[in-house]
Amino acid sequence: MSRALDSDSESPSQVYHVVCHDCREEHVSGTESEAEALLSEHRSATDHDVEVAALRAPETT
Ligand SMILES: [Zn+2]
Repeated sequence: MSRALDSDSESPSQVYHVVCHDCREEHVSGTESEAEALLSEHRSATDHDVEVAALRAPETT
């Protein structure tokens, strides 16, 4: 099967904002897998409440 769904490909129009509710830790990632890695890394290190929000990146010119 070819990639009909562009789930894993890098989409320039989408960014993932990793934000912690228990401290000021935050990251912006271009890929969901990296965002989830950052999330689980911070959560396992601190036991904080971390969340990933998918955002639309601003248009770059
Ligand atoms: Zn935190």
